[in-house]
Order: sequence, then structure tokens, then C-alpha cells
Amino acid sequence: MARPRGAQTRADVVRAALADLYPDVQCALQHRNAFELLGATILSAQCTDERVNMVTPVLFERYPTPSDLAAADPDELETIIKSTGFFRAKAKSLLGMAATLEANFGGEVPTDLDDLVTLPGVGRKTGNVVRSVAFGLPGLPVDTHVGRLSRRLKLTNETDPVKVELELNPMVPPDERGRFSLRLIEHGRQVCDARKPRCADCVLAEMCPSAGTVTPAPRTAKAATTKRARTTPAASAHKKPKAPRR
Ligand code: SF4
Repeated sequence: MARPRGAQTRADVVRAALADLYPDVQCALQHRNAFELLGATILSAQCTDERVNMVTPVLFERYPTPSDLAAADPDELETIIKSTGFFRAKAKSLLGMAATLEANFGGEVPTDLDDLVTLPGVGRKTGNVVRSVAFGLPGLPVDTHVGRLSRRLKLTNETDPVKVELELNPMVPPDERGRFSLRLIEHGRQVCDARKPRCADCVLAEMCPSAGTVTPAPRTAKAATTKRARTTPAASAHKKPKAPRR
């Protein structure tokens, strides 16, 4: 395959190839409605989806509605979500999110991104997850995988997630944006690893401008810390909490 020159052409080729490779891609966070997905996505900051999926059934059994969650006892809530790490900040976000849903949105999760990002603990990434997964609306969440792959594939040179999102949006049909993000995430996890991309096994290698050029980066102290937080989320519970905003 000749290497496509323009970013739009590359985006089209990548989108088609990843759709073939991961046809049934789905959000890994278990949920029964938009409220539960919103809560699960807040909890997933610096935590594995598997761990979040162990916690959310208990959380939403105890607090099934925004009204229940808004009235939760903070100590009890912290205990339930403790194993996801950063539990004090996350409890504060969950309480604030639920209270804001009650106060400003009639207890319903709003669909507009401008409204979603007014909820405590909710940034554009979480807002776009909720829009695309729970509501089937256009939304392209940019996490670390989406940002890294987009740069390696030279769809963008931006490093700021919001700028990446705004640059990718016009390259992807609105109803495909959520699935495109999920497929990039899947490919980032399975093949295009941050430190050691497996270009020899990658279906995108023939058209990827970075194929074979990424040298394994030495692990920095920060990366090691992040990795530990991801793989042993309980350990991060003892660090100074910073407000997770996804
Ligand atoms: S060819 Fe290599 S750098 Fe390019 S997307 Fe595939 S794994 Fe990543």
C-alpha cells in the first residue's frame, strides 16, 4: 500500500482498518444507564476498568439515583470506592456530580458537552464518553492511547487532548467518533504500546509514518509511578489526592 500523504486520507484508511480489526468494540465500563456510566468514568481515572467494574455494582446498589448519591454519607462512600485510588477526591467529585445533576438538571444526565463539563470531576473526555456510549451522540474521547496513536499516525502534532480532539473531529464522521476512539484505545492496548510498539505485527504499518521508528523510551520515575498506580490502584489511595478530571 502506498503511504497516504494527507492526514484526512490517513484517518480514512486507519478508520477502515481498525473497524475491520475490532468490529464489535465496546466501552469496557459496565453500566445500566448514563448516570452509572458517568460515575464509573469518574472512578476510572488512574484505575483499571476491571477494578472499577468490581466497585460499581456495590456503589449503584447502594446509591441507584443521583438523589441517593447526593445524600450519601462521605465516609461510607469513600469506603465503597477506596480500592479505585484517589478515593477522597473521587468521592468529592461523585457527591458534587450528583448534587449538580439534582440542582441544575432535574436529576438527569445532560447530553450537551457544555453542560456535562459543568459537573464536578467531569472534563471533555468523560463528557465525550457519556455522549458517545450512553447517548449514541457524536463524541471523541481523547485519552493517552488516542493521543499517542494520533501523533504516531501523524493525524495531529498536538499534545493537548482538547486540541487533539478538535483536530480529529472533522476527520471522522460524527456518528463514528466514539467507536473510532474505542478502536484506537484497543489498538494502543494490544499493539501500539507506549514504550514498545509492535510495528511488525501492526495492520497499519504500511501506512504509518512512525512504523519502525519508535525506540523504546527509558522508563522515567513518573512513568513508573503511573504504571504502579494503574496496576495496583489501591496503592495510589495513599498518595496526596489530586482532583481527577477526565
Ligand atoms: S506501525 Fe507501529 S507506530 Fe504505527 S500504529 Fe502500528 S504499532 Fe503504532
